[in-house]
Amino acid sequence: MTSPSHHRPGGGFRNPWPDAAPHGILDFLRWVVLERRTRPRPADPDRAAFARVAPSFAVPRADVDTLTVTRVGHSTCLVQLGALNVLTDPVWSQRASPIPFLGPKRWVAPGIDLDALPPIDLVLISHSHYDHLDDRTVRRLIAAHPEAHWLVPLGVAALIARRGATHVTELDWWKETSVADARITCTPAQHFSGRGVGDRNATLWCGWAVDAGGWRMFFAGDTGLHPEFRAIGERCGPFDVTLFPIGAYDPRWFMRPVHVDPEEAVEAVAQLDPSRGYNASRHAVVPIHWGTFKLTDESMDEPPRRARAAWARAGFAADDLWLLHVGETRARRREW
Ligand code: ZN
Ligand code: ZN
Repeated sequence: MTSPSHHRPGGGFRNPWPDAAPHGILDFLRWVVLERRTRPRPADPDRAAFARVAPSFAVPRADVDTLTVTRVGHSTCLVQLGALNVLTDPVWSQRASPIPFLGPKRWVAPGIDLDALPPIDLVLISHSHYDHLDDRTVRRLIAAHPEAHWLVPLGVAALIARRGATHVTELDWWKETSVADARITCTPAQHFSGRGVGDRNATLWCGWAVDAGGWRMFFAGDTGLHPEFRAIGERCGPFDVTLFPIGAYDPRWFMRPVHVDPEEAVEAVAQLDPSRGYNASRHAVVPIHWGTFKLTDESMDEPPRRARAAWARAGFAADDLWLLHVGETRARRREW
């Protein structure tokens, strides 16, 4: 039996599509050592530009006909799919880094205090990077929510299980599992992974689709634009809500294989949902991966501006783009 094309011969993983290979260390140095000296970077706004507002999610659970999304920060959201409480890429630490006093520092405090979370049923992990998988947060969540089911891509389960989690399921792309009445599918993404020296791409990266109680969500993780968004929409959609990254894209020559820019994010979302624009849409899109940790060269307030403009150019309903403040909760009732 041949292994799937995203499995690297001899172990580890790769992006199986053309022009999808991430740049290596020499290009990284070219960017941060050479290019940053010569090319001025756009100025960031004052940190006060990002307000934190009080959340209003349902406690302990939403009713079955209500969907809510609360933005905690970066790619961390609390999603209530009816009575199912889902957390994405939980990071509560001050920095996205292995070292507590070094690395990108949080611009806005988490939108929900970790101790104030409702009972968590599912935790979706997209990949091993520090801005998505935070050791201290994992330990605190396992202690506070021992019944939570952790869904992780291939190679990541050991890290979670070692911290004491009871329910950890590790999946490959396009594999599914069930937790109670929720069906969860691991979906392809174009990215990379690593937490230290010598473990580059040793573990897989992915997105997640969840179908629970008649609600369907898609969490894209970190990704470049790849050819499978239409297949994700066909196999796992139509979605009621999609969490899609819009930040950490400049410079393009370096970031394009691994992070979409806002225009590509809107293009990918359109591919997920080919009916958008023809039917009255009920598909809300929540931009993530912006406004929390400064990782790349674009200014901190550029991603939402460009996302809003690209959304309008595509002709999508303004009400369906949920650009949330940190802490903000948005809810939608099921329309019968
Ligand atoms: Zn990443
Ligand atoms: Zn990231």
